[in-house]
Amino acid sequence: MKSVAYLRMDEPKMKTKIVFSEKCLSYGTWHIEGPQRVKLAHEFLKEQGYEFVEPNPASEEDLLRVHDAEYLWNLKKGLVEDSDTPAYDNIYEFARLSAGGALLAAGINGFSLMRPPGHHAGRGGAALGVYTRGFCYLNNVAIAVKASKKATLILDVDGHHGNGTQEIFQGAKKVVYVSLHRYPHYPGTGLRSAGNCLNFPLKADCGEEVYLRTLDEALGMVDPAKLEAVAVSVGFDTHAGDLASLGLTENSYHEIGKRIAALNKPTFFVMEGGYMGEKNGRDSDRLLRGYEGEP
Ligand SMILES: [Zn+2]
Repeated sequence: MKSVAYLRMDEPKMKTKIVFSEKCLSYGTWHIEGPQRVKLAHEFLKEQGYEFVEPNPASEEDLLRVHDAEYLWNLKKGLVEDSDTPAYDNIYEFARLSAGGALLAAGINGFSLMRPPGHHAGRGGAALGVYTRGFCYLNNVAIAVKASKKATLILDVDGHHGNGTQEIFQGAKKVVYVSLHRYPHYPGTGLRSAGNCLNFPLKADCGEEVYLRTLDEALGMVDPAKLEAVAVSVGFDTHAGDLASLGLTENSYHEIGKRIAALNKPTFFVMEGGYMGEKNGRDSDRLLRGYEGEP
């Protein structure tokens, strides 16, 4: 494996706070994107001594920087539904709170452990011609990045391509989008890079060595001097056996965290996928320990 000697930190980092509200556990119990995936992660992180903070819902003004008014109206009225993404009662409010989690995480350089996830949601719902919104309603990370107005690297390490995030930021001058994802796989986008959107398709279960080599290559293409912040779309569905498995293990997330720290920018994390609850907790902990320079 390539040497990682450049991975050093200038000073120890503060312990990352976790943004969480129990309200996000109260819908969709029958769905694979269900409360257990976050509930068990929350319990695990609590046992590890993490500090938690509660978000407020994102405002309509925050949402309108990213989404079309018509889409928001239909979402509020319960009129948007597809085979992956149900029109749950009050889903607009749950989605607004999850977006608020991303906004709070951006403000405190924290980790938003909220649902529903967001990176498949485009301006008007399904993005880049994909048929479903892949369990996503509002693009949480995009809402936080737009509100910050900062030059940002959005690093998407979820196992699926963030077609919504790419659609929203395609051609944006101050934002670079980097995604490593399984291909071919849902949503079927992200085969090639396009301008400020750098895509790295990977074969199913490619494994840690290939993954980290690709991540190093991807981050090597980004000019840190042009960045003020890093936003990480974190998905743990790359874990071996999960929905978009790339054959990663707990150790892989520790290595990913080290590489994020080496960028040396104010950073926040927003949870996307990951469908095995307890593993989500362990993987989050490993990622944050890697990022904070802990073993
Ligand atoms: Zn995913």
